[in-house]
Amino acid sequence: MALTKEEIIYYLTHKEAEEDLFRQADAMRRQYCGEVAHLRGVIHFSNYCRCNDLYCGLRRDNKEMKRMRMDEDMIVDLALKIASQGIKTIVLQSGEDLFYTREMICRIIKRIKEKADVAITLSLGERPYDDFKAFKNAGADRYLMKHETMNEKLYEKMRPDRKLKDRLNALEFLRKLGFQVGTGNIVGLPGQTIEDLAADILFFQDFQPDMINIGPFIPHKQTPLKDYPPGDFDLMLRVFALTRIVTLNTHLAAANTVATLRPIEGQYLCFVKGGANVLMPNCNPFAESREKRVEFEFQCAPKKRYVSVEEAKEVLKRAGREIAKDKGHSLKMERQIC
Ligand code: SF4
Repeated sequence: MALTKEEIIYYLTHKEAEEDLFRQADAMRRQYCGEVAHLRGVIHFSNYCRCNDLYCGLRRDNKEMKRMRMDEDMIVDLALKIASQGIKTIVLQSGEDLFYTREMICRIIKRIKEKADVAITLSLGERPYDDFKAFKNAGADRYLMKHETMNEKLYEKMRPDRKLKDRLNALEFLRKLGFQVGTGNIVGLPGQTIEDLAADILFFQDFQPDMINIGPFIPHKQTPLKDYPPGDFDLMLRVFALTRIVTLNTHLAAANTVATLRPIEGQYLCFVKGGANVLMPNCNPFAESREKRVEFEFQCAPKKRYVSVEEAKEVLKRAGREIAKDKGHSLKMERQIC
């Protein structure tokens, strides 16, 4: 349902109207996405990053961060283990880490696809366009790349050396290649205004992404933004609800940063009020045997809470959702190429 900028700003700023907003979002979710929810198993395989985003603990200037990389075998083994648990989407996520060459990523995609009937989502940041093409040809289905904020000045302040237009061009290019494309924003960035959030929602309305990942700003003590307050949970919930209303059937994820801002309850509220229909549990092998244990946390936010598969299932059970048994491809079928 298309909304004007004025209508979006009204709902963002009028708390007394939020129950009405949440009812509408939930009705849209029910009508366009049904009562099933999707679990995406996330592998954070590297926390090295060449970017220096002010809000992120993985920024390259954070010398206190304990860095790690998984090798190819470890990534593939983990993906197959996740698939054996019945999870039908594997998300391969990392910082922008060019240590992993085009060939390595393609090999990983092919090895997983050969052995498991899963969809693969990549979340690797900006790469050369030939890499995107190769990843698609190797069998990747989806690409997730948040636009972070539609305020160009704020974007360039928060992401030194990066341009918003490059990000948006990359999203368009990924769509042309036939990827199911995901994007998303951060709610509560220092300096962000209500107009900026309205611009994010209008972008969602215009671009109609296949997937959206909305998360709150959370100050990290090893970043220049350490003294700023976190994003406002209630405002973020209204952004969720408005996003559901303007995108109808986009897969909308309640990110792990939501659970960091408000443990357990946060993701549940995104499901019952904000129109969410996707959870992305962390599948890194924190609890494995000592020698295989990955000694790191993907700490883009401080004490980031990583929701396990079991915790994610609890959230969905409480929200009254069934877990989808299929791959949960984009519901925007008219545009779908895969
Ligand atoms: S948000 Fe992503 S691209 Fe930016 S510094 Fe963190 S890991 Fe790197």
